[in-house]
Amino acid sequence: MTFETWNETETFELGKELGTKARAGQIIALNGDLGVGKTIFTKGLAEGLGIMEPISSPTFTIVQIYEEGRLPLYHFDVYRIGDPEEMDEIGYEDYFFGQGVSLVEWAELIGELMPDNTIWITIEKDLEKGFDYRRIEVKDEDSWN
Ligand code: ADP
Ligand code: MG
Repeated sequence: MTFETWNETETFELGKELGTKARAGQIIALNGDLGVGKTIFTKGLAEGLGIMEPISSPTFTIVQIYEEGRLPLYHFDVYRIGDPEEMDEIGYEDYFFGQGVSLVEWAELIGELMPDNTIWITIEKDLEKGFDYRRIEVKDEDSWN
């Protein structure tokens, strides 16, 4: 399914809606260029899960864990990962196959590690439609229902 947003708030709200529907064990891969809105989307998703504390980008720690919501959120940003083995070192399988929701910014960089049931979300700009326009493709959204 493809969504369109025209400002940051709409992307946040889309993330929030999916966050309210998220289930234990779900894994979300978020792709798209730098500055496209992956972290904004994640902030919305976190709010949808009932997480009130501020979400900061885990670029240097690879994963940030939030446990105060309806389900734990494991927020990964693998942009700076040099080798997928670094994922082993942080014990990623405990998160991916645990009871929380895993969300991975830049998941395409560790595509081989992403499980088959991953929900793939790609955010793209289209400057012809305006600077703040984003096209957000969700595959396979059936798992949200
Ligand atoms: P990423 O995590 O993909 O690098 P961020 O979420 O940190 O990107 O930043 C996205 C930037 O784009 C923010 O400055 C935000 O205000 C801006 N922006 C403009 N329009 C949108 C939109 N429709 N959706 C999301 N972010 C938008
Ligand atoms: Mg980000």
